[in-house]
Amino acid sequence: MRQVIIAGNWKMNTSKEEADTLVMGILSGMADVKSKVIVCVPSPYMSQVEALIVHSQLNLGAQNLNINASGAFTGEISADMIKDFGVQYVIVGHSERRSLYGETDEIVAQKVQVALDNNLTPLFCIGELLEDRESGNTQVIVSKQIQAVIDQVGIDAFKNIIVAYEPVWAIGTGVTATPQQAQDTHVFIRSMLAEHDADIAQTTPILYGGSMNLSNAAELLNCKDIDGGLIGGASLKAQDFLQICKAG
Ligand code: PEP
Repeated sequence: MRQVIIAGNWKMNTSKEEADTLVMGILSGMADVKSKVIVCVPSPYMSQVEALIVHSQLNLGAQNLNINASGAFTGEISADMIKDFGVQYVIVGHSERRSLYGETDEIVAQKVQVALDNNLTPLFCIGELLEDRESGNTQVIVSKQIQAVIDQVGIDAFKNIIVAYEPVWAIGTGVTATPQQAQDTHVFIRSMLAEHDADIAQTTPILYGGSMNLSNAAELLNCKDIDGGLIGGASLKAQDFLQICKAG
């Protein structure tokens, strides 16, 4: 039985004060949440969020990491740095990193490797563009993205990887994949993992991301192969985020 995982991706949002208010709001409603809940916060706010969530059920995540351990990489953040703040999870391969910062499947695979080498759990994001879906290439794109990671870290490493299927056309657009579209792709992802290892295919959590919100979360999370959500916009409102956490 796979545990439901709900991860909030705050992206480049909130101020110092808003980060406090958001975390306090989430904490105030966590008592009856059964899912594992992760907040992936902007780097400058990691320290304050770490202090707020200590001894709580909330887990801390980062939104990126550099493949190098240290050195002349202006503006970047290393695995050791994020671990200093109690981070256990890191988003890798988000479509915004792929499209805006040129992260290829190979770079993403290296980042997954670095995360694992540092005992961080990667939230490994994959997903197709609208044109890929419309031309019937969803499975081709998604398998290429997964294969790059399997080639880099091996199938066994998926014991410590959370996959997030995020169709790019659904991220931040208000257009959500239908439960059937999401379920079908999750089944495909699991079948691809099963070609390498049947047990790993069954135990790997596969989250859905892309305009998940209050109104569609329950239906999506009810699908057999959808094990949780990676939530952008709706993770910035404590009450909405909590309702999604409770829908799982
Ligand atoms: C995301 O950025 O991972 C995401 C799913 O965003 P949104 O929920 O806003 O579509």
